[in-house]
Amino acid sequence: MAEDLINSFMGGPDENGRFGLHGGRFVSETLMPLILDLEAEYENAKTDDSFWAEMDDLWTHYVGRPSPLYYAERMTQELGGAKIYLKRDELNHTGAHKINNVLGQIILARRMGKTRIIAETGAGQHGVATATVCAKFGLKCVVYMGAHDVERQAPNVFRMRLLGAEVVPVTSGRGTLKDAMNDALRDWVTNVRDTFYCIGTVAGPHPYPAMVRDFQSIIGKEVRTQLAAQEGEGRLPDTVIAAIGGGSNAMGLFYPFLDDESVRIIGVEAGGKGVDETMQHCASLSGGRPGVLHGNRTYLLQDGDGQILEGYSISAGLDYPGIGPEHSWLHDIGRAEYVSITDAEALAAFQLSCNLEGIIPALEPSHALGHVIKIAPDLPSDHIIVMNMCGRGDKDIFTVAKHLGFDMKI
Ligand SMILES: *Cc1c(COP(=O)(O)O)cnc(C)c1O
Repeated sequence: MAEDLINSFMGGPDENGRFGLHGGRFVSETLMPLILDLEAEYENAKTDDSFWAEMDDLWTHYVGRPSPLYYAERMTQELGGAKIYLKRDELNHTGAHKINNVLGQIILARRMGKTRIIAETGAGQHGVATATVCAKFGLKCVVYMGAHDVERQAPNVFRMRLLGAEVVPVTSGRGTLKDAMNDALRDWVTNVRDTFYCIGTVAGPHPYPAMVRDFQSIIGKEVRTQLAAQEGEGRLPDTVIAAIGGGSNAMGLFYPFLDDESVRIIGVEAGGKGVDETMQHCASLSGGRPGVLHGNRTYLLQDGDGQILEGYSISAGLDYPGIGPEHSWLHDIGRAEYVSITDAEALAAFQLSCNLEGIIPALEPSHALGHVIKIAPDLPSDHIIVMNMCGRGDKDIFTVAKHLGFDMKI
């Protein structure tokens, strides 16, 4: 079923996984056979009806898809301009979009006869989604996580352990996501025979960026169908907006609309304390330069010597120092716009969503909402904005409490 949208856009990637100047596969020779094997298996699965039938069944009965497309009426009235729709991917099992992709990769791993799944995680959301699906299928799961992140993200570490995963703290480098990704790649080369590497965003060497995008495209595909069927609408959205860490939920929303020139596409990066030379942000496109990281060429946060910089954001899920290569390309050719929203703007949006819609959002989509708040008032009332509410805020209430000066006393 999802087959018809795959490769629908003429753009990319090419056979080497390049999106314009970006993407590709910058990996060691030892890794190359694994990557090629994965690519062949995915090419095969992509056109196999039984693969998508299994995905559809689990999306429906395990994840809870399709997620609703919800008209945010009070928010629309309050902002006084464009009509705002929220794609409710925060209602998925495990509370975010990550599981859409994890299911796809793990079904693929099972087809390949792999019994051990490895993953890297920063804030822990991808680790939790991977541990969840591994528990469901009885697969061994090892999650690499920067030692610093293990400390900062204790609730997710405990969730992964409850789900039976082994969490390996990574102490190399600065002990964050970038270092965890390197260790996961090393594990993969060492344990080729039984191990599958499950990447959590549209990054890594080809075919990962395209494959993860394909799995997440269910988001945009549902939006198309839902808005077409919506009473009084029956058309395409005018603007689609999503938050960007590595860029997977955004690519999932954007991809099915790339060919529709009338649809304006906006990606929202984490502006932290402001996109300036102090680098207290995670805006790879707004404030970074092209370079190579994690097997692909893309825009990265780096210093004058090309050293990768740690990003900063109030939202741990957005602090990836790069961005998926397809976004870099869409930026270069001007098909999508990329903007940034600061911590303060995201916090204000978070509260607006709670107060007006009764939806406690994750801090990541609060960034997308921050941009909706900026542009909606100046747009006409027949302009439709669809924003991806890609995660729920239960995980973030402690951070928000701290910023709002509320003492939780726990
Ligand atoms: C992980 C995460 C993100 C960032 O990842 P993308 O690949 O950019 O989608 C954003 N929102 C939520 C809720 C997440 O869990």
